[in-house]
Amino acid sequence: MSNRINILDDLTINKIAAGEVVERPSSVVKELVENCVDAKSTKVIVDIVDGGKKSIRVTDNGSGILSSEVDKSFLRHATSKIKEIDDLYDLYSLGFRGEALASIAAVSKLEMITKAKEEVVGTKVFVEGGKIISKEPVGTTNGTTIIIKDIFFNTPVRQKFLKSTHAETINISDLINKLAIGNPAVQFKYINNGKQMLNTPGDGKLINVVRSIYGKDITENLIEVDFECEYFRMSGYIGNNNVYRSNKNLQHTYINKRFVKSKVILDAINEAYKSIIPIGKHAVCFLNISINPAKIDVNIHPTKLEVKFEDEKDLYIQLRDYLRRKLLSSNLLGKYETYD
Ligand code: ADP
Ligand code: MG
Repeated sequence: MSNRINILDDLTINKIAAGEVVERPSSVVKELVENCVDAKSTKVIVDIVDGGKKSIRVTDNGSGILSSEVDKSFLRHATSKIKEIDDLYDLYSLGFRGEALASIAAVSKLEMITKAKEEVVGTKVFVEGGKIISKEPVGTTNGTTIIIKDIFFNTPVRQKFLKSTHAETINISDLINKLAIGNPAVQFKYINNGKQMLNTPGDGKLINVVRSIYGKDITENLIEVDFECEYFRMSGYIGNNNVYRSNKNLQHTYINKRFVKSKVILDAINEAYKSIIPIGKHAVCFLNISINPAKIDVNIHPTKLEVKFEDEKDLYIQLRDYLRRKLLSSNLLGKYETYD
């Protein structure tokens, strides 16, 4: 009876922790693409088969990983983005927890081909269920390609709960749209079962990304916004009273380029549109808020979808009032009916 408490080994720990980060194929795409963006890539290609259940391939032309550090990148809490907790106050990268690669590798069959600009030869590595199976030098271009096959092959219960190919594909498409809108300077190419679904220009212009995704019916009805106060800066586009939706799917809000679902921000937008669009309908918007990272906390959830602000009330009032003024002064409005 002397041994009832076990210290779990790293593979087991990673497999358990993977549950938090890797919920489904779209979570893998999210983590991999965010790494491409953090690696300063200007082009990212996502290629999925069967809603990502069969395979996910993400290729970038970013910084690459040094051959000597490839093994390290699969360890839990291994990150090049922070060194200590205070770095979170000055964080502009999407990642920082160092959990994604370890988690993804723990529950899939992974192949990585990577080359850092500083090196002549690249590295190709196979990892299965978190274990490095092989590693060899390979001739390749600068950047990183990661191929994930058989997600959840070693966690059968989770595999069983994967949704239909259709449902998983919708999730991934939606996610890629969000990442592309958040990063207009990155060209995003998205291929689903061999068919190209999206190819953004990567010219840094948000309006061109929105046009590639939603077409001119939306872009024709957008008002450009740009606002700066001591606390934050906001830029992007909001819909006029000619476009609105019965759901919130076209409300894209970002903090320092990170897609977030923030109640304060959404409430402020909603309030600004009062009596401009019908009750129960939702405005269309593509907004990025740049804010000093010290004034927010992005570390309240593993997927980082939520953010806490230092001064929510101020943010709410500034946003609401600016958007309201912008809408009311927009000459597009006079042409349409307003609602009470
Ligand atoms: P995090 O993004 O939180 O740092 P990850 O587990 O996602 O953690 O990645 C671990 C590390 O591997 C990163 O910090 C980065 O140094 C490296 N890495 C992962 N993907 C890429 C990539 N596409 N290009 C360059 N480096 C990468
Ligand atoms: Mg990451």
